[in-house]
Amino acid sequence: MADDAPKPHRSHGFATRMSHAGRAGTHAHGFVNPAVHRGSTVLMPNAQARRDFAKDRFNRVMTYGTAGGPTQYALEDVICEIEGGSRCVLVGTGLAAVTVPLMAYLKAGDHCLMPDSVYGPARTIANGLLANYGIETTFYDPTIDGAGLAALMRPNTRVVYTESPGSHTFELQDIPALAAVAHARGAKVLMDNTWGIRNFMPFEKGVDVSIQALTKYVGGHSDVLLGSITTNTEEDYLLVRGAASQMGHFAAPDDCWLALRGARTMALRLKHQEQSGYAVARWFEQRPEVLRVLHPGLPSHPQHALFKRDFAGACSLFGVVFQPRYTEADIFRFIDGLELFGIGASWGGYESLALPTTGFITRTATSENLGGYAVRIHVGLEDVDDLIADLEHGLATLPR
Ligand SMILES: *Cc1c(COP(=O)(O)O)cnc(C)c1O
Repeated sequence: MADDAPKPHRSHGFATRMSHAGRAGTHAHGFVNPAVHRGSTVLMPNAQARRDFAKDRFNRVMTYGTAGGPTQYALEDVICEIEGGSRCVLVGTGLAAVTVPLMAYLKAGDHCLMPDSVYGPARTIANGLLANYGIETTFYDPTIDGAGLAALMRPNTRVVYTESPGSHTFELQDIPALAAVAHARGAKVLMDNTWGIRNFMPFEKGVDVSIQALTKYVGGHSDVLLGSITTNTEEDYLLVRGAASQMGHFAAPDDCWLALRGARTMALRLKHQEQSGYAVARWFEQRPEVLRVLHPGLPSHPQHALFKRDFAGACSLFGVVFQPRYTEADIFRFIDGLELFGIGASWGGYESLALPTTGFITRTATSENLGGYAVRIHVGLEDVDDLIADLEHGLATLPR
């Protein structure tokens, strides 16, 4: 099992920890990587073990496939290193990593606060299952300060959900200020930290539960769906783990193995994609067809000061808002004319993507009018000069 492998020290650099966390230990005959342990039944040494093991099933005592095994444990260790948390629960999709902690912390009669910029399916469960179970959600302007949040808190507000930046409109949130208010009123802070992976340290900023769609940069190759829920106290871990277990959530060992492989090179890919992303974003900013670029790392971003304060870097996902004179048909022609940018959901893979935003987002607390038609760009690992030439070619299809 992975647990006898020497663990890296938190004082080691990120690259060192990504190389040494989650290795196989001695149980794989010296092979560096843990094996893919597929399995349902786990045989026990004797009948008494059945009684003893059951008490400890969330503590890496292997009793049945759903409690995980060496492949999952290795990935859990790596995600804890990335996020700076103490324990991690793996689930089959990023969306399950959103829904499990919501179900864990909220019950009938409770109130939840969610940013208006939240990942769409999070809004759907808030207005769907959570509402059906008697949980009320208020959507708030993601850019509010601590006083703004305090005004929205109710005695029964149990969860302040956050996502910074929003993955379509890229508003940043003042997480430490919001967390201080939430904690003073006894609410938990949940954060979808997918955009900020490696660059935003959630637990240093007051987050209680950090959600990752590992599908994105950790997977990194557009071939796996997976989610993680990381916590930093044993109490939070047991609550989230218990909810995931009650609902039958599970992360398949083959998928965990792919994510483990992706994690080994994530920092390198992310760095390259960050730089290419900046190059493409700055290029867009110079173009007369473009009204504004929604990239938290650019000085033109309205909350750029928060980015500089809280983030060590950016990923390669951002938005481009076109001049209002362009119609949807114009923008669709631009997107369809691109050769190197695929049209598809998700991000964090090695391939570049362009996706229409306008008309595909819901806003109830703020305006969905960004000033013009918006497109979300994901920059992959291609040569950036080729990407810019392709975009230039695409822009040439727009009416003068
Ligand atoms: C993609 C995504 C998710 C969900 O991940 P899946 O693995 O596709 O279910 C959650 N949050 C954000 C911000 C995402 O971009």
